[in-house]
Amino acid sequence: MKAPKFVFNCKRTGMCCETRDSIDVFIDDIERWWNDGNFAKIFADMQVVTAGGPPIKLQIKKEGPCTFRENERCTIYETRPISCQAFPLGWNSKNFILVDEECPGIGKGTMTSEALEEIRNAAKVEYDARIRTAAILPALHAIILTATMKASEEAMSKLSDEDKEKLKKIFDSAK
Ligand code: SF4
Repeated sequence: MKAPKFVFNCKRTGMCCETRDSIDVFIDDIERWWNDGNFAKIFADMQVVTAGGPPIKLQIKKEGPCTFRENERCTIYETRPISCQAFPLGWNSKNFILVDEECPGIGKGTMTSEALEEIRNAAKVEYDARIRTAAILPALHAIILTATMKASEEAMSKLSDEDKEKLKKIFDSAK
């Protein structure tokens, strides 16, 4: 039997931003954010997740809704992660799959061939990016840590002597 044709029209319910367990981030996202100048804005909201063993994942920090969802919209929409661009479609190297069958936009309305092509491409790019990212994640982790330390040093250099003294006391009491 022929598989039903995939049709998707985002209903803007925000379900994918609020209820997904994780928002995966890949090397392609880092590269794009580096080139479009958004890396500094976004890296602080990323984390490397090792809990539960492999695969180690790089993802947006999340306990509840995505940190980039504000006032019912995505604050980084133009440069959102490839996993968000492809949602709810995925690619498993042979077939397209539905990442979330509950997404309310699936099967609704019509879809232009250009829009279908775009989301299919995003699903394939996501698949490739997932594989490449797993291979280089330790190095990526180091880049993120370096960027975090640099931002922290810059923040420290702007503190008054009084605030530095307060911070020192906090660090000392935490030892
Ligand atoms: S990055 Fe934007 S589109 Fe992706 S889950 Fe977060 S708010 Fe939603």
